[in-house]
Amino acid sequence: MGERPRGGPRRRSAQTPAQRQRRADPPRDTAYRTLRAVADGAYANLELPQQIRRAGLHGRDAAFTTELTYGTLRMQGLYDAVVARAAQRPVDRIDGPVLDVLRLGAHQLLAMRVPDHAAVSATVAVARQHVSQGSGGFVNAVLRRVSERSAEDWVEIVTAELADPVDRLALQHSHPVWVVRALRAALLGHGAADVGSVDEDLAALLHAHNTPGALTLAARPGLGAEEALRAAGAQPSETCATAWTLAAGDPGGLPAVRDGRAAVQDAGSQLVTAALLDASLQGRDERWLDLCAGPGGKAGLLAAAALARGAHLQANEISEHRAELVRHTLRAAVAAGARVEVTVSDGRIVGEESPEAFDRVLVDAPCTGLGALRRRPEARWRRTPHDLTTLGPLQRDLLTSALRAVRPGGVVAYATCSPHLAETRLVVADVVKRLGGVTVEDARPLLRDRAGLPLPRTGTGPGAQLWSHLHGTDGMFVALLRRD
Ligand code: SAM
Repeated sequence: MGERPRGGPRRRSAQTPAQRQRRADPPRDTAYRTLRAVADGAYANLELPQQIRRAGLHGRDAAFTTELTYGTLRMQGLYDAVVARAAQRPVDRIDGPVLDVLRLGAHQLLAMRVPDHAAVSATVAVARQHVSQGSGGFVNAVLRRVSERSAEDWVEIVTAELADPVDRLALQHSHPVWVVRALRAALLGHGAADVGSVDEDLAALLHAHNTPGALTLAARPGLGAEEALRAAGAQPSETCATAWTLAAGDPGGLPAVRDGRAAVQDAGSQLVTAALLDASLQGRDERWLDLCAGPGGKAGLLAAAALARGAHLQANEISEHRAELVRHTLRAAVAAGARVEVTVSDGRIVGEESPEAFDRVLVDAPCTGLGALRRRPEARWRRTPHDLTTLGPLQRDLLTSALRAVRPGGVVAYATCSPHLAETRLVVADVVKRLGGVTVEDARPLLRDRAGLPLPRTGTGPGAQLWSHLHGTDGMFVALLRRD
């Protein structure tokens, strides 16, 4: 896999047919298998590590495979438009397996530092091995056409006839149009941009979704994780007091992660948990509830804080399997003496069953995840506007249940990893209006960096919205609601 500067001269293959690669090499074979599994419904972030292990890939090969797979999945909207032009047919007239091979080739040619001849011949080998000998000729011809222009030229060509700037941004940055419209409305609605600047911010946000996020860890306080992370080469992050970043390596292999003193967790998730923990409270502060706890990232931080403050944490989750993940991730805090109960129950009935029982409640609601697109490469293509119609009532019911479960004076944090207005501000406004007797407090001063200073540009309040392009975190939203 030699390298050439991006945009450098393109070279034709000097290989004879007899010299051409006959079998896919392990990285491309692994990327292709992962794409096919994703086409059948698998999650790339679960599937790829298994495929990499099965193929025995390490170091540079594993990194190349990850970039090839995730990049191809993220950019497939743009690549499909390029492939359609180069193949002179719409992509729905290309078989799925062949289309996946072409997308892999397009990513190598347009976004990776792979010489054209290597990208084409190695990708043709994938088609020959996994699809048919005959498909190799078609893939070869299409990829040669793709290789004749730079990524910038292709973007100009495929967006040339689009009049609406949103349509153009969607294609250029490879997002579904409905997602781009929703993100644009969210930037305006949360006050992260005004009409004059919104398209610039939108482009920066979409670009951030196509840029892999840093590997961030949470050091669960009071469990001795910090020394262990430092010893393993992690660095404290400035974004949040509990966040650490790891430049390279497998976080699952770190002793502190293996035993549950630390966990892989985006800094945005850590910040919203800290906002709940730092909200002021008059009177009793002993019983805490995490209503939707699986797989347990935020519960891990809550449990560590509960240990330090002598509180009891109930971590509830509707799925038994995910509740098991919560038990597993909480084991270090429990071993250190944290009082934690993991329950399996529908969070919508907890408020009725345990009215006014809790002092602090977290509702980390099931959502579209539109704020975490950089970490879930295929998610943007899976989600549909219809998801909002099923999630909306569930989010309202869970928040209502939480407000019933909290005592007067107690505080509920409503969080989503989506900035979509229908999942954030509208849910909070609807529930507050329907229930009454609830005050929404300003969450923004409680999103604090390592130095203790409030993060800038978290919106017009009272809810706080984080953004990947502004804060380097996932796009988490948090609102703090207090029962009067
Ligand atoms: N707080 C978690 C963390 O930091 O790891 C992530 C929570 S995730 C966004 C939402 C969770 O809500 C999922 O695990 C899902 O299974 C759970 N869930 C969905 N419907 C639920 C319900 N009715 N009651 C309780 N949990 C539910």
